[in-house]
Amino acid sequence: MKALVKSKPEVGLWMENVPVPEVGPNDVLIRVRKSAICGTDVHIWNWDQWAQKTIPVPMVVGHEFCGEIAEVGSAVTRYHVGERVSGEGHIVCGKCRNCRAGRGHLCRNTLGVGVNRPGSFGEFVCIPEANVVPIPDDIPDEIAAIFDPFGNAVHTALSFDLVGEDVLVTGAGPIGIMGALVAKRSGARKVVITDINPHRLDLARRLGIDHVVDASKENLADVMKAIGMTEGFDVGLEMSGAAPAFRDMIDKMNNGGKIAILGIAPAGFEIDWNKVIFKMLNLKGIYGREMFETWYKMIAFVQGGLDLSPVITHRIKIDEFRDGFEAMRSGNSGKVVMDWN
Ligand code: NAD
Ligand code: ZN
Repeated sequence: MKALVKSKPEVGLWMENVPVPEVGPNDVLIRVRKSAICGTDVHIWNWDQWAQKTIPVPMVVGHEFCGEIAEVGSAVTRYHVGERVSGEGHIVCGKCRNCRAGRGHLCRNTLGVGVNRPGSFGEFVCIPEANVVPIPDDIPDEIAAIFDPFGNAVHTALSFDLVGEDVLVTGAGPIGIMGALVAKRSGARKVVITDINPHRLDLARRLGIDHVVDASKENLADVMKAIGMTEGFDVGLEMSGAAPAFRDMIDKMNNGGKIAILGIAPAGFEIDWNKVIFKMLNLKGIYGREMFETWYKMIAFVQGGLDLSPVITHRIKIDEFRDGFEAMRSGNSGKVVMDWN
């Protein structure tokens, strides 16, 4: 099959012919229709320090996808050939304490599709039956192909009660924007999103997020005053991975505020812990999606009318993958979805 492979320990990905993955008794082989590019794939392309110590070479990468079942393993009972599906990209052990308690997202032995094992930038991807998620007919392929990052947004946003709350989202990347949309739909009062990239700020404005703030030019305290906020934010969703954004968020939270942190910041950055303590903030780290409650909610949000299609700014054929990665690397894109047909 054709696949995008990290075949050399250097910058780039290469289109190659590789064997179709072998289907174990509990596995499902999926013919990929659409695959989206994640920031993680950009790290792998760039071959940065994280990628060098994490990614086996050679390996097919990618983990955001939608497709149809091409083959099922001998022990698979729930699915049949032809079903349209996406899949959870975190493969959990099923044996640790959290897995046994039904908290798979807290598994200590999680393996990532396209990170620790072959991924979805190929004509086929193979995952365990337990990770398959059937996609209802009324959800388009391209939307199901971005369920992995949408799930990050939903998991983060739904971490805390949002009804009537004032919410600050730092970072208007695809995940921050989707998180802000989910917060609004979940009953938040004011939703403020910040970024420093004009392209991302424009995208957030086009998607109708209440208050879009250019953190490189505007002072968040002034914005809060202008929109009638007298105390502070009740809930923060950290989606930038930028230390200055996180520090500013801590500074602008009300006492007792709650922060869900998805953004991956550089190692060793500092925050003012005294503010966390004396404001009695509640900080929660987020990794991946809850299995499978987040998937249930995602499907419900989309079926309930949440339109994610404007978040996809580039729709390309797989052979144009270089353009897709270029768009992602420039930061001047939302989601990039690649078509395998
Ligand atoms: P992204 O890089 O596209 O978006 C981050 C945005 O933050 C960018 O638009 C950037 O301009 C903005 N930003 C940078 N400095 C800022 C500042 N000072 N103030 C406000 N905004 C600023 O990333 P994404 O794909 O939307 O993902 C969001 C974050 O979540 C990233 O850090 C990513 O690594 C992380 N992530 C974590 C998980 C997880 O499971 N924990 C999963 C996926 C992504
Ligand atoms: Zn486990």
